[in-house]
Amino acid sequence: MNLFELKKITGEHKVSERMPLMFIGHGNPMNAIENNRFSTSWKEVGAKLPRPQAILSVSAHWLTRGTRVLAVEHPRTIHDFGGFPQELFAQQYPAPGAPEFAKETQRLSTRQHIVLDDEWGFDHGTWSVLVQMFPKADIPVYQLSIDYSKPMSYHFALAQQLRTLRDKGVLVIGSGNIVHNLHAVNFQSNAKPYDWALEFDSTIKQWIEKGDHQSILNFQRLGALALQAHPTYDHFLPLMYVLGFYHSGENPTFFNDDFDMSSVSMRSMIYHT
Ligand code: ZN
Repeated sequence: MNLFELKKITGEHKVSERMPLMFIGHGNPMNAIENNRFSTSWKEVGAKLPRPQAILSVSAHWLTRGTRVLAVEHPRTIHDFGGFPQELFAQQYPAPGAPEFAKETQRLSTRQHIVLDDEWGFDHGTWSVLVQMFPKADIPVYQLSIDYSKPMSYHFALAQQLRTLRDKGVLVIGSGNIVHNLHAVNFQSNAKPYDWALEFDSTIKQWIEKGDHQSILNFQRLGALALQAHPTYDHFLPLMYVLGFYHSGENPTFFNDDFDMSSVSMRSMIYHT
């Protein structure tokens, strides 16, 4: 993390100004309770961000048919994983919901219908990051689901319709991973990333830096490399939302640009003007 650059991003910020936009590589759920290099960055970023009116999370772990938006006053904390210590299952993230922003989100999407949802809560793609980034849990949070039946272009176009939320004090976070292949994870400590993982990660980074969003939307053209990086698309799809929420002229600052377990890119970024 380049803290100097982060200061530039967050410096003098008024509520009426556009909120930054983030993609977070969330990786292992244990990052919620561990103090490691990834969670340390999340803490540092959270401490320097302007205080949002609400946080909208698009998480890899809420896949639906049809698009839904969480519209409850008090969302539950969902422990959507298995085989982890009791300490992780005991974690709660008691932030309030943001039903009014959820309704506004539904209203802004004029071309695709969004359903108000009262059943989901905060899945670990959301709370494992926010518990480190905003530990007080005093900022309203809501989630937008990912319709897994839709093509990349749908997610990008949907997010484009919602961009004005950022001007209303909403901090948007896409939570996934730029490389995510759980079949290939290497649990040895200090395991190096695979060559294909490095190649995919750096290709996406370069496209982000160039603002070449069309190439990212068409990442399947990378063929075998794309399939290695994403045997399924769930963790890549949140990036399509981040690109849709992007305003031209914004620049990315990368952090946590490193790998976990050889096949999970933790690369994260914050967009700022
Ligand atoms: Zn995940």
